[in-house]
Amino acid sequence: MFNKVLIANRGEIALRVIRACRELGVASVAVYSDADARAPHVREADEAVPIGPAPSAESYLRGERIIEAAQRTGAEAIHPGYGFLSEREWFARAVRDAGLVFVGPPAEAIAAMGSKTSARQLATSAGVPVVPGTTTAVRDVAEAGEVASSLGYPVLVKASAGGGGKGMRVVAREADLALALEAARREARNAFGDDAVYMEKYITGPRHVEIQVLADQHGTVLSLGERECSIQRRHQKMLEEAPSVAVSPELRRRMGETAVAAARAAGYVNAGTCEFLLDREGQFYFLEMNTRLQVEHPVTELVTGLDLVQWQLRIAAGERLPFRQEDIVPTGWAMECRITSEDPANGFLPSTGRIGYLRIPGGPGVRWDGGIGIGSEVGLHYDPMLAKLIVWAPTRDAAIARMHRALLELTIDGVATSRDFHLRVMEDAEFRRGDIEIQWLERRIESLTRPNPPAGGKVIAAIAAVLLAERDRSTPGGATATRSSSETAAHRGLPHEDAWLRAGRRDGLRSR
Ligand code: ADP
Repeated sequence: MFNKVLIANRGEIALRVIRACRELGVASVAVYSDADARAPHVREADEAVPIGPAPSAESYLRGERIIEAAQRTGAEAIHPGYGFLSEREWFARAVRDAGLVFVGPPAEAIAAMGSKTSARQLATSAGVPVVPGTTTAVRDVAEAGEVASSLGYPVLVKASAGGGGKGMRVVAREADLALALEAARREARNAFGDDAVYMEKYITGPRHVEIQVLADQHGTVLSLGERECSIQRRHQKMLEEAPSVAVSPELRRRMGETAVAAARAAGYVNAGTCEFLLDREGQFYFLEMNTRLQVEHPVTELVTGLDLVQWQLRIAAGERLPFRQEDIVPTGWAMECRITSEDPANGFLPSTGRIGYLRIPGGPGVRWDGGIGIGSEVGLHYDPMLAKLIVWAPTRDAAIARMHRALLELTIDGVATSRDFHLRVMEDAEFRRGDIEIQWLERRIESLTRPNPPAGGKVIAAIAAVLLAERDRSTPGGATATRSSSETAAHRGLPHEDAWLRAGRRDGLRSR
């Protein structure tokens, strides 16, 4: 194992990697921009090196400075986290050329899966089903028109270099094609410096189901099962779970084998993810491979019992995977809510400020992967994700009840956050039935982001008040417990949530 690893990232993922290092007895080096001088990841690491001003182009994206910091501090490896330099082929190559280990796949595998069109070509040649569409960029409107009519509308124009849902446009009819093509190109040029776009059939109502793979340097490639990531806004994930209600053991096996085949075709090593769309008939189509650790990796960790970040480090250090495919069976249910500094009641507008108070949820089955503390400044320089709240429970129903309970415990003062939005999702009957697909959230966004308690909440509150009065009469000590929890809810101005929790308990929302 390495003696020292540098983490080329910030926020919650930097802390996540520092924790893995510490458990493995590896010293950690943080890097930080001027804006992050007092950030939690800097305080937590064994050493920290400043790398430049706040804008990421002048700090977290300065690969050569980061490599220099690793050399100066005597780190043997660099963990890139996600985002920033994690999927830049040149960076993986530069790290290797500097005599250091890149904790991730070989530069060649990043290149092979780097553009969506080259990934589609590779997947097709490995016999992996892809969404119908082109495997090369479209030249002009005329060609796009021909492709669209052969696929049939609606179609999706996508940036070859895409990521984070950028450079993507749904086109419902021919008349809209030219404008959509232009808009996608412009967005792709601005975001990725590359305006190549290609086209896919736009699939209506599928789920986003992805497979986590883990590959060592000795030829073992394993699937760690699926994650359900259909709760998305503007093609971006907001909450994830493992396993998926739509995946049977047989489908899990088939999707797993397909992901392993795609990873093998790319010469993949380390942790990676194959993303698929899964339709109602159980057909699945490869979307892309993410050649890095994913934000949502904890849900896989909780159902498999494997520490993915530790395995990333062990694989990078040359260790063999000591388990076989048949050893990996998901147990129970895990769910993750992305807690962002965005205001759901205000179109998810990014919110800035200083964290004045923070109450982190705890108790059975709750995990908090956060990157903030009291006093943290939340600005506009970086991604708005403040933390991930993750729960595990034996069943999906129990996981939902636990997540709702944990969200109620969470208090973040100083910035608007996505907390209340997630509470509403947990309260939603369709979500609770698992009746979701990638367009579900956009369809329901109004009811899930309404600033005031819904009328139903008042009804539930009234019912709950009666039930509580009954319970208080029959349970010794009940009155005290009740008073304190409603005080907490009232303090936040959200009485309906507390009432929902109590009513939910009676509805049998407990683990079954
Ligand atoms: P990015 O790399 O920008 O995240 P992806 O290819 O991973 O782009 O797609 C992001 C999301 O966009 C998917 O999870 C899915 O919800 C939606 N999407 C992508 N391709 C299609 C498609 N062909 N049909 C319908 N939805 C799609």
